[in-house]
Amino acid sequence: MPIDAARPYDDQNIFAKILRGEIPSTCIYQDEWAYAFPDINPQAKLHVLVIPKGAYVSWDDFSAHASAEEIAGFIRAVGHVARAHDLVAPGYRLLANVGAHGGQEVPHLHVHLFGGQPLGPMIARR
Ligand code: 5GP
Repeated sequence: MPIDAARPYDDQNIFAKILRGEIPSTCIYQDEWAYAFPDINPQAKLHVLVIPKGAYVSWDDFSAHASAEEIAGFIRAVGHVARAHDLVAPGYRLLANVGAHGGQEVPHLHVHLFGGQPLGPMIARR
């Protein structure tokens, strides 16, 4: 069920629990700013979620309220994960769903990183 991206941060969300180690995940990469792990329901050969370590509901919350250091650290982490998987030459896709129209279900900012295959149209055709 999509979330309201304007709501306050809920520290009981599933990615907050993953960050605290209360729910298992496989670490692909982490640093001071970000944590990357495989999506539990992959939509492509490679489907990684990259999340900031800070408590931000969505891209909107993050872009409005995160520090310049947090933003730079997070964006660099996404780029690092892509390069570490040799995705630059073949190409890849980043996606951040925001709120109801975006279909965001987990209320902690996450960037989906898809790769390893041609990814088709950017938005599903109806
Ligand atoms: P959203 O629709 O919010 O952009 O995407 C949420 C993503 O989180 C979905 O692709 C879903 O498969 C993934 N997801 C939900 N719960 C878990 C979990 O417990 N572990 C992992 N690794 N991924 C999850």
